[in-house]
Amino acid sequence: MERYWDCSLCRIEPKGKALRCRTCSGKLRGRERLLHEIALERRLRPKGAWLSLVAAGAGQMYQRRWATGVLFAILLPLAIGLVLAVWNGFSYGHLFLVGTAGFVLAVAWADARWGPTTPHPPCQDACPARVPIPDYLQLILDGDPDQGHALARTRLPLVGVIGRICPHPCETHCVRGIDGEPIAINGCKRFMADQVRARRPEAGPSKVVHLDGGALRVAVVGSGPAGLSCAYFLSVLGASVTVYEADEVLGGRLATTIPDYRLPPYILDEELAELRGRGIAFRTGAPVGPGGKAVADLLRDHDGVFLAVGAARSVALTIPGAELCIDFQEVLRASKGRAAPRLGRRVVVVGGGNAAMDVCRTALRLGAEEVHLLYRRTRDEMPARPEEVEEALREGVRFHFLADPVEVRPGSEGLEVEVRTMELGPPDESGRPRPMPVEGRNWVLAADTVVPALGQTVESPVFSDPALQGLRRERDGRIRVDPRTQRTSLERVYAGGDAVAGPSTAVEAMAQGRRAALGMYADLAREALPVMRLRDRRLRHPFPGHRETPEARIREEMPKLAGRLRKEGFREVELGFNPAAARREAGRCLQCHREL
Ligand SMILES: Cc1cc2nc3c(=O)[nH]c(=O)nc-3n(C[C@H](O)[C@H](O)[C@H](O)COP(=O)(O)OP(=O)(O)OC[C@H]3O[C@@H](n4cnc5c(N)ncnc54)[C@H](O)[C@@H]3O)c2cc1C
Ligand code: SF4
Repeated sequence: MERYWDCSLCRIEPKGKALRCRTCSGKLRGRERLLHEIALERRLRPKGAWLSLVAAGAGQMYQRRWATGVLFAILLPLAIGLVLAVWNGFSYGHLFLVGTAGFVLAVAWADARWGPTTPHPPCQDACPARVPIPDYLQLILDGDPDQGHALARTRLPLVGVIGRICPHPCETHCVRGIDGEPIAINGCKRFMADQVRARRPEAGPSKVVHLDGGALRVAVVGSGPAGLSCAYFLSVLGASVTVYEADEVLGGRLATTIPDYRLPPYILDEELAELRGRGIAFRTGAPVGPGGKAVADLLRDHDGVFLAVGAARSVALTIPGAELCIDFQEVLRASKGRAAPRLGRRVVVVGGGNAAMDVCRTALRLGAEEVHLLYRRTRDEMPARPEEVEEALREGVRFHFLADPVEVRPGSEGLEVEVRTMELGPPDESGRPRPMPVEGRNWVLAADTVVPALGQTVESPVFSDPALQGLRRERDGRIRVDPRTQRTSLERVYAGGDAVAGPSTAVEAMAQGRRAALGMYADLAREALPVMRLRDRRLRHPFPGHRETPEARIREEMPKLAGRLRKEGFREVELGFNPAAARREAGRCLQCHREL
């Protein structure tokens, strides 16, 4: 984070040489940059808006946007002057001019409060963490993946992890996908992290200066992506952070549930070591709530508490014989331990989401000869990512669509699952076709193990803590927060991640963790926020431009582990881009934000 300079994107002159560098926010790094972000949102913009309401243009001038300020300052008297100049009693024309004056005032206020914002390309807007995607693609193209990695780290602390597991909504919105294949954005992100990893032993661990963050002390409850992200950004701000984790390992689901063939444990361990190097204190085996540390004690010893307890409880199958099934989280967790669970020869998995795909593919790696997936709708309605479905099919999982289990019972050998055939009816409240049973078409599937993977709900012992009794939660258990700051209904208590969003994604959890870090710092730090009147005027290097050839429409194929090697263990399936492939892929980017 500290090494990244926006200036690496600027095409004018080196830092400090050009006149406009004096007022460019690109010269800020690390802590200063975050403080600038906080000050902009909490001080400069609200105060500017208020000033613009008193005198149009004053807010813009306060923000050092002289030209816009002068324009508004001229426009308003002009509009009022016109009214007065032609005043000879009331007429509709006057009403129009008064309306115009009011409109100028309203626009001046809105502009000072929210504008101007840097235009984002669609990929960046679709990313929950708003990672500046085309900029890091350009840095890859320029042969500087280290800077690209540092740039991505200004929004995400675990780039290598996200580069492997993100469902990449950015790629769905990539403009390149309109008449070709979208850029492999996540593959490029992973490439940058892999390059930095490859060089790390020579460079040694990054040196960290622990800054004084206004003596802010924060307790983070839960070490999943949300907790880690909040702890990381708070540590960049110089706060003293302690992470309390109920489990013996750090990382939340990244460490306990996501299978090793998608996220090798050493990737997470190395990125966690970086966070440890920042001086964040981690307490494992330290639950918060009944039986552990009380929230009241945390609030006494710290300035604020961030709840990032995830969505831990599996949704249960509610059919006769459900007690004969195994919880999917147990299967996934055990598969990551030393003693692999025995699932038997025939495994039946129920569900259509990513968790179900993970269980199926894990079961194959644990030695199951037949893995059957039961899903009550069709492939088109499956919530699982299409790539995951493809891989599961390629590896030999047998899919049964329009199939719903109605009973699990002991059979002659192991278990029997009675399955009801379904058909699709009119849309239900989720907008998807409602699955309806077809009478008299039940069938039976023999199994050694049945694993429902139907999702999770928000639950944690921490909610029974007396200090959290006033915590406002949604009906389904999610914690209610202010989406700008992640502030909960309780004073000095913030929350984020799956505990707020419900079962979601790691990148969403990290985005919320970052938001909470900035929100907590703004609310709780005893330090006066420095107000730097700087502007985001980053200009980019001249872009070499892409050649619109038929090949440019086709994306680089990520090399993958050969099928025959996959069942031999949990080796990583996706192998990553080499430098030439990553540059070719980055070169396909249309750099849409230059057109905005
Ligand atoms: C099978 C599966 C596969 C997934 N695959 C992907 C994927 O490929 N890509 C993706 O982006 N997302 C994926 N997800 C979702 C992603 O893992 C979560 O959205 C993300 O981990 C949520 O982060 P979090 O920090 O909110 O919670 P978690 O990661 O759940 O972390 C919460 C942590 O809080 C701890 N905790 C709970 N209560 C307490 C307490 N009282 N005291 C102290 N500690 C406590 C828990 O032990 C846990 O470590 C997957 C989820 C599952 C279940
Ligand atoms: S072409 Fe590049 S800038 Fe445009 S949406 Fe795709 S990745 Fe983003």
